[in-house]
Amino acid sequence: MAIDGQTQLVGVIGWPTAHSLSPAMHNAAFSYMGLNWRYVPMPVRREHLPDAIHGLGALGFRGINVTVPHKVDVIPMMDTITEAVTIVGAVNTIRIDRNTGKLEGMNTDMGGFLTDLAANRIHVGKDTRVLILGAGGAARAAAAGLVRSGASVIVVNRTPEKAESIVRFIQSSWAQTSIEFAYMQNLFEASQSATLIVNTTPVGQWPDVDSSPWPENVPFPKGATVYDVVYRPLKTKLVRDAEAAGLRAVGGIGMLVYQGASAFEVWTGKKPPIDVMKMICMQQLGEGAEVPFSDT
Ligand code: NAP
Repeated sequence: MAIDGQTQLVGVIGWPTAHSLSPAMHNAAFSYMGLNWRYVPMPVRREHLPDAIHGLGALGFRGINVTVPHKVDVIPMMDTITEAVTIVGAVNTIRIDRNTGKLEGMNTDMGGFLTDLAANRIHVGKDTRVLILGAGGAARAAAAGLVRSGASVIVVNRTPEKAESIVRFIQSSWAQTSIEFAYMQNLFEASQSATLIVNTTPVGQWPDVDSSPWPENVPFPKGATVYDVVYRPLKTKLVRDAEAAGLRAVGGIGMLVYQGASAFEVWTGKKPPIDVMKMICMQQLGEGAEVPFSDT
């Protein structure tokens, strides 16, 4: 469909944005649905963020995704935020009112993570004990979603103060929570009763494909499931090592697709073509479209 006077614009703001899969994923979805919409990458430096955000309404944008490093900095620039933003402390999707230009900050990472766990039949409930590696934006989304689902969570991070900060933030949001942090040197003790391990660090992400965030000298807890939010490559070293040790392990491509699908629905009001979005991501990652996708 040609770009014309009716074309509606969305996109992603981050620094950098060159490796983002979202333009291919959303543009394929628009094309499949016959929607005259386009998704554009917008690399924005930190010092230009306020100008860029406030210009979006004036330019008639319908919405944007926000990625590293701007997910927290955009919060005070929003006219309204959703409950998910309050819980997670980060915005990854903005809806722009086409009449008023007002900005609504949202977080679809938390829902995308939980939806992908469910799609992969990974149970989360009061009997789930989770060990989260990392304490950045993805960790906040995962920890908030897991705690809200009733799971007990331990956060372990290279910089323990950041793990402690997430724990305090989530404890301040819910009266009755089971979340604590542990030091990296205590990973063995902290992990032994875990039923789910979630990696939210970028360790193992292309091109660093031979690295794993899990130390070689620490055995995986027996019977646990591993979820790695890293999706490039589709099978990280952590996923491969966990499978070799007899654990079930899942990569983060589904989380990416589901957070994008939520944004698509928020902006267009249409049901997203999830299988198309997933297939395009797989093609972009050079893995073909043969991996089965468990939709919800
Ligand atoms: P972030 O906010 O920068 O946080 C990164 C975290 O990883 C920090 O806690 C950091 O520790 C830790 N870390 C970084 N390098 C490390 C290393 N070499 N060894 C040990 N720990 C290390 O990043 P983010 O936004 O959370 O993203 C993290 C990863 O998740 C990225 O690979 C991103 O692509 C992926 N992600 C995937 C999805 C998805 O949809 N699948 C969504 C969001 C993010 P310090 O605190 O010590 O610096």
